[in-house]
Amino acid sequence: MRRRSLRSILSTRFALLVLAAISLISIAANILINAQFEAYVEERQKLGADGIARNISSQYDGSAGWNADYVHGMGMYALSDGYIIKLLDGDGRVVWDAENHDMSLCHEVMSSITILMRRERPDLKGRFTTHRYDLTQKDAITGYLDISYYSPYSMREDDFHFISTLNRILVAVGGVAMAGAAILGVLLANGIVRPLADMTAATKKISGGDYAIRLDEKGHAQEVCELTQAVNQMAGALEEQEAMRKRLTSDVAHELRTPVANLSSYMEMMIDGVWAPTPERLQSCGGELQRLSGLISDLERLRQVEDEKMELHKADVDLLALSGEVMKGFESQLHEKGLQGRVTGSVSAVPADSERIKQVIANLLSNSVKYSRRGGTVHIVIEDTKDYGVIRVEDDGIGISAGDLPYIFERFYRADRSRTRRTGGAGIGLTIARAIMRAHGGKITVESERDSGSKFSVFIPKSN
Ligand code: ADP
Repeated sequence: MRRRSLRSILSTRFALLVLAAISLISIAANILINAQFEAYVEERQKLGADGIARNISSQYDGSAGWNADYVHGMGMYALSDGYIIKLLDGDGRVVWDAENHDMSLCHEVMSSITILMRRERPDLKGRFTTHRYDLTQKDAITGYLDISYYSPYSMREDDFHFISTLNRILVAVGGVAMAGAAILGVLLANGIVRPLADMTAATKKISGGDYAIRLDEKGHAQEVCELTQAVNQMAGALEEQEAMRKRLTSDVAHELRTPVANLSSYMEMMIDGVWAPTPERLQSCGGELQRLSGLISDLERLRQVEDEKMELHKADVDLLALSGEVMKGFESQLHEKGLQGRVTGSVSAVPADSERIKQVIANLLSNSVKYSRRGGTVHIVIEDTKDYGVIRVEDDGIGISAGDLPYIFERFYRADRSRTRRTGGAGIGLTIARAIMRAHGGKITVESERDSGSKFSVFIPKSN
């Protein structure tokens, strides 16, 4: 099934939302403005009638009474505004009546207003209604004025014109707002979709093996930024894995090359009859085979600590007792090289996997023994800091040069290959120690100088 793109979903939803909002606002504005305008017109009409009544009332002369000529002028003027008036004196006699005066004009005015209103406002159901005003002067009734006009209100052509112009403006504003919203919607959708498209392209490249790729993490919304960071982290982790895999392959090939080459040249010479297969020669072949099997078991140990998620069986461990135990196991080797071994210091128990920590101490101790000169000292100091239980393994042996120091924890790294070949190390003791410490959430550090000894410090966190 072909799916709709996020861009089109976002833009159409945004446009629909804006359309609904603008329609609602336009309809509400239209209703409100019309109602307001009608109320205004109604009020205007009533004020107009009041004004006519006031003007006519002021024409009354206390001594001469009503002057029909003046009233006539006003009445005709009012008629042109849609008011049909009839003035009666205090006794109810007609002074002036627009209908009497010009009936056809009155009907013309009334019918033109009625036709216009019925056409424009068919549901208004309006009609001409008469409103009576009592005219007074000094609290005495001077007459009565009947004013008829179209009720509840009537509008002129220009009023309708005003309303329809207003509505057209509303529609135009709505249209412009819609167009603006559509453009904004597309921009908004693009803003969201572009980083996603970049990420899709990047993850496709990553799955194709291009781990060096990194996405720009700046300028995105928080969630997008987090996703970008996650993709970058994933690429970084894969890159590291890939590099590790390559390194391991080349390291293993490198380590296998010498014993296998030796072995095959020995065998060849024996097969060709150049060498007689004496027990000594067979023994050196056996020696090479032993190195190969040693290498295989080293690889096995490495796999255990590096590849799997190391399972730790933690319990409170007394580092002093544990170190003493390991030191004891090295007694004969120390004796052989005429070395002095000491364990001092103290710390309350730390949570750790005692077997693994034992292995770390043993690896460090074995190195110290291997790389010490006859008559030297190997010292294990247990220390207590705020956050860690610390094991320091110090020796006054050959030390490590500054050039080698950064690499000694790398697997198969040996500062001096020819010597370590003799001492038998494959260069993974420290790699294993570091992996164990990482699994504990701790760390291992080294301080060393050529010819003046080394100090390895193991930090085991006190809290998990
Ligand atoms: P190896 O099996 O070769 O001892 P390690 O990983 O334990 O491998 O050590 C890596 C390298 O670090 C050693 O080959 C050695 O050159 C150096 N090294 C480690 N510990 C010491 C030490 N106490 N004194 C001097 N050099 C050391």
